[in-house]
Amino acid sequence: MARFGHYDAVVVGAGFAGLAAAHELLRAGLTVRVLEARSRVGGRVFTRYLPDGTQLDLGGQWIGPTQLNMVELVRRYGIETYPTPGHGAMIVDYGGQRLGDSPQEVLDVFAEIDSMAKQIPVEQPWSAPQAAEWDSRTFASWLADSGCSDVAAKFVDRVISGGLLAGSASETSVLETMFYIASAGGVEPLLGYGGGAQDTRIVGGAQQIANCMASDLPAGTVHLSDPVLRIEHDGSGARLVTRLGEHWASRVVIAVPPMLAGRIQYDPPLPALHEGVFQRMPAGTAMKVHAVYPEPFWRADGLSGVARSTTGVLTETVDNTPPGAPRAVLTAFAYGDEAIMLRRCAPEERRRLVLGQLGDLFGSRALHPDELVEFDWLAEEWTRGCFSGHFIPGGWTAFGAALRKPVGALHWACTETAVRWNGYFDGAVESGRRAAEEIRLALQG
Ligand SMILES: Cc1cc2nc3c(=O)[nH]c(=O)nc-3n(C[C@H](O)[C@H](O)[C@H](O)COP(=O)(O)OP(=O)(O)OC[C@H]3O[C@@H](n4cnc5c(N)ncnc54)[C@H](O)[C@@H]3O)c2cc1C
Repeated sequence: MARFGHYDAVVVGAGFAGLAAAHELLRAGLTVRVLEARSRVGGRVFTRYLPDGTQLDLGGQWIGPTQLNMVELVRRYGIETYPTPGHGAMIVDYGGQRLGDSPQEVLDVFAEIDSMAKQIPVEQPWSAPQAAEWDSRTFASWLADSGCSDVAAKFVDRVISGGLLAGSASETSVLETMFYIASAGGVEPLLGYGGGAQDTRIVGGAQQIANCMASDLPAGTVHLSDPVLRIEHDGSGARLVTRLGEHWASRVVIAVPPMLAGRIQYDPPLPALHEGVFQRMPAGTAMKVHAVYPEPFWRADGLSGVARSTTGVLTETVDNTPPGAPRAVLTAFAYGDEAIMLRRCAPEERRRLVLGQLGDLFGSRALHPDELVEFDWLAEEWTRGCFSGHFIPGGWTAFGAALRKPVGALHWACTETAVRWNGYFDGAVESGRRAAEEIRLALQG
């Protein structure tokens, strides 16, 4: 087994959280190594090019103007951005009725959600005034009692619990839902295009930001294709056993999603409350599918490509065509039960269901894309779910206090531990910087 030496800090994972942690640790004058399981950096960002140069972001892709960590990184590396294409009308399929925007009864539910989210202290959601009640209740049961119509409840379930939390309202508590909304500053910042989380895309793809962060580290800092399998630790340091060898560190940042952090073997085993976090934070099940066409034909029909639907397998679509791209891209998302059902289908049936709904929304030309590109993050060994992990009911009040609490030499990062923009790139960067600061204080005072 190769012996790779001792560092002040070893970072596990080279997603945005791990890369941000490495930068901050180096800035503090500490020696750092990053150990990454994949043969690339970026984790849940993954940009792919089709042979003709059409760019597809198979993972995360957008940043918004209030995601200040990302705005700063994009500026720092001189990365070009462009606004999400938005000319034309939106389609809302509301129980089979065709609308141009969310109806007032849905906006009323959003307003109520916003006022509830304002009661959540994002640093400690478990200390919210109604934390015990809200954590013991699913968001589906709250929706059922909210007095809104069945179709409004379905819309909110699919767009909030699906589009934001990548599951369904029966899986998450009221408390987790309200925390997630509070951490981004409200429903509109989360759902919005102009000014919201879907405001801006990255020329060349979002993985470029992670690539720039990695290239900006001293050569040799990041070890690729080297998953951490076992961590032996005590208060004074740790020995990390990887596929390629062993590394020693005074401190460790574990910058992988909780579900994967729980698959690393720890000696001694972690305290019960940390294990409780791992067991109660499964990753979402969203599916993102790209239909590639010779041209953005929907624009000629006055449509923006943005659709939201209460029926069919797809909840949302967006025009994902980069400027100057040789071909056009319509990207569709399925969440919750529909996303799981699509995985159970044979590929031809999945294709029939996805294209059938695109045809219903955008007309017969949508039925015949040049290509339909899928990528299943649930099947990815080093991610295992999409977009991010969420506490199941009861998780926050029982185990929330352990989420970011260091265990001796071990510190926790990744977007699931973020206070602001939890679940997003921006939250990942925040979490990495926070874990690095904990280590700086521990080692330097
Ligand atoms: C389809 C999709 C769409 C999304 N859309 C957006 C969006 O538009 N905007 C947005 O802001 N966010 C979006 N997100 C969420 C965003 O991608 C994540 O919040 C963010 O990338 C998480 O970064 P992270 O560093 O916390 O975790 P990750 O990116 O998951 O990084 C963890 C890293 O650890 C590595 N790893 C895992 N286990 C080990 C191990 N044992 N040893 C070593 N390495 C290990 C992994 O390979 C990975 O590189 C999306 C996500 C997906 C999947």
